[in-house]
Amino acid sequence: MRPYLKIEERERKLSETSLKLQLSNLIKLQTVDSEIYILRSEKSLKPQEIKALEDSFEAKKASMAELDKKSLDLQKQRKDKEGELAAKDEAIKKLQGQLYGLKTNKEYQTMLQQIQDAKADSSLIEDKVLELFDAADNVKKEAEKEKERLKEEEKVFLAGKKKVDDRVKEIDDRLAQLEAQRNMALKEIDPKILTQYERILSNRDGLAIVTVKGTSCGGCNMFVPPQVVNLIKMYEHIVTCEMCNRILYIDEGT
Ligand SMILES: [Zn+2]
Repeated sequence: MRPYLKIEERERKLSETSLKLQLSNLIKLQTVDSEIYILRSEKSLKPQEIKALEDSFEAKKASMAELDKKSLDLQKQRKDKEGELAAKDEAIKKLQGQLYGLKTNKEYQTMLQQIQDAKADSSLIEDKVLELFDAADNVKKEAEKEKERLKEEEKVFLAGKKKVDDRVKEIDDRLAQLEAQRNMALKEIDPKILTQYERILSNRDGLAIVTVKGTSCGGCNMFVPPQVVNLIKMYEHIVTCEMCNRILYIDEGT
C-alpha cells in the first residue's frame, strides 16, 4: 500500500499544481494581451497617418491657389495698362485738336513730333496689353490642367484615407473579440496574481510573463542564474526577472 503523503508534502504538491496552472493561465492571457497591445499601438498611429495624407493633399492644392493669384494679378496689370492706353489716346486727340490753332511752322513741327512720340508710346502700351492677354490665356490653360490633376489627387487622397479608416474598423472589431476573450481568461486567474501581472503589463510594454530561454530572460535577455531557474521549477512562488521584473516561467514542453 502506498503510504500517505505527509500533510506539508500534500499542501506543497497542491500549491505546486495550482501555481503551475495559474502560470499557464497567465500565459494564455498574455497571448491575448500581446495581440491587444500590438493592435492598440497600430491604431494609435492612424490619426498621424490621416493627418499626413491631409497635409500632402493640402500642399498640392496650394499650387492651384498660386495660379488663381497669378491670374488676378495679370488681370489687374492689364486693366492698369488699358487705363494708361486710354489716357494716352485722349492726350493724342487733344494734341491733334491743338494742331490747327498754332501760329508758326516751328510750333507746328514741334507739336507733330509730340503727337508722333505719343503714338509710339501708345503702340508700345498696346503691345503690352496684348502680351498680358496671352499670359492670362496661358495661366487659364495651366489652371484647367491643374484642376484635372487635383481631381486625380483627391481620388488618391480619399482612397488612402478610406484604407486607413477600414483598417481602424478592422482593428476595433478584433479588439472587441479580444476583450471578450480576455474577460473569460481573467476568471481563471487569482486576483492577487492578476494585480501583479497587470502592473507589470502596463510598465513593461504589454509583456508581463516570459519564458526563460536557456539561461536568459525572454523579456530583457539578461542572465537568469541556475538557482533562480530552480526556484521557478519549485512552483512555490511567482519568480520575477531581477532586471526587468517580468514574471518568469519555464516552458517544460521544450
Ligand atoms: Zn528580464
